[in-house]
Amino acid sequence: MSRLVMKFGGTSVANVDRIKNVARHVKREVEAGYQVAVVVSAMSGKTNELVAWCKEAAPFHDQAEYDAVVASGEQVTAGLLAVVLNSMGLKARSWQGWQVPILTDDAHSVARIADIPSTNLDAAFAAGEVAVIAGFQGIHQATNRITTLGRGGSDTSAVAIAAAIHAERCDIYTDVDGVYTTDPRIVPKARRLDKVGFEEMLEMASLGSKVLQVRSVELSMVHGVRTYVRSSFDDPGNPQTGTLICDEEEIVEKQVVTGIAFSKDEAQVSIRAVADKPGVAAAIFGPLAEANINVDMIVQNVSSDGATTDITFTCPGADLERAQRVLMDARHTVGFKALETASDVVKVSCIGVGMRSHAGVAAKAFQALAEKGINIRAITTSEIKFSVLIDAAYTELAARTLHSLYGLDKVG
Ligand code: ASP
Ligand code: MG
Repeated sequence: MSRLVMKFGGTSVANVDRIKNVARHVKREVEAGYQVAVVVSAMSGKTNELVAWCKEAAPFHDQAEYDAVVASGEQVTAGLLAVVLNSMGLKARSWQGWQVPILTDDAHSVARIADIPSTNLDAAFAAGEVAVIAGFQGIHQATNRITTLGRGGSDTSAVAIAAAIHAERCDIYTDVDGVYTTDPRIVPKARRLDKVGFEEMLEMASLGSKVLQVRSVELSMVHGVRTYVRSSFDDPGNPQTGTLICDEEEIVEKQVVTGIAFSKDEAQVSIRAVADKPGVAAAIFGPLAEANINVDMIVQNVSSDGATTDITFTCPGADLERAQRVLMDARHTVGFKALETASDVVKVSCIGVGMRSHAGVAAKAFQALAEKGINIRAITTSEIKFSVLIDAAYTELAARTLHSLYGLDKVG
């Protein structure tokens, strides 16, 4: 019998009524003949509340106890969904992470899945049960402690379970009906994509598209799990199509640019008049790495006087203050004249596997942005994407300009 994983996010299980609607989706797939594992998030807002309670209890707290607290949201929804399924005449059982078991490392609050033995789930399927699994949580076996997988982690639970039970597909039901060419709230002409390649989706998620947790996409790519993003607000009796994330080979109509992502959570740091000699970059980026600050775009100018140069980089906005402190502490070893920062910046990225075989894709964008009077502060490129850092005030204009430039606008 074919197996299916169905994952429902926080807004899809926000109250008992919605959970009943979820149950109807599940019933449809059971009746279609699938062995079904359902993965649920906590009710929307619940995890935020639990996180806030931990902070209120003590600003600095044990991460293992944080996990004990925040994992509880998923326990509730898994139990409730099993109750509703039972009341509809379906056999169903809830499963906590430790019961499956979903084995993880001991990186509490950001744990990684190490293994999911499928024996228990196999037995549940053999008994004709729907397995309702609490997303987001796992267990570290050696310490026998509950772990969680990081915010948004139930996507990752779902994909990992799909790989473990060799599911035909992993359906991610959410509050949008798929993956769009870009955020429709910013670009009204954004289109829903029928299919996206794993690699493109990974770039989009990493560069700011919030539909799926980045790690879940990594996992689906590694294990080749076909992942279908679709709406839980459809009529369960008449489900609509969503977006399939699959192997590039499965996609017939290839675009040069598939999507545009942006991230506002960026900050720019420019270090002025740094000595232009070996070891300087190491003296700057070494301490930043040690402080766990994720540096993204790096621009270093060629020195005009042979003595000093400027280095600019970006990092997450939340890390800006820390980055400044780290650099000021390293000032005597690095030797620079001034530090300038900006946080009202946005990184706009264009993604598409077509860039591999087409030249001049980015150049077209630079031209189009220039025509709109948008100044580019920094650029990075890789095989299937390029990103530009611009003033945040131009986010919409830049996104719309690039969206039509690459023929992504919906017609009509
Ligand atoms: N409930 C968790 C969170 O809000 C996990 C998830 O929903 O994916 O981050
Ligand atoms: Mg989510």
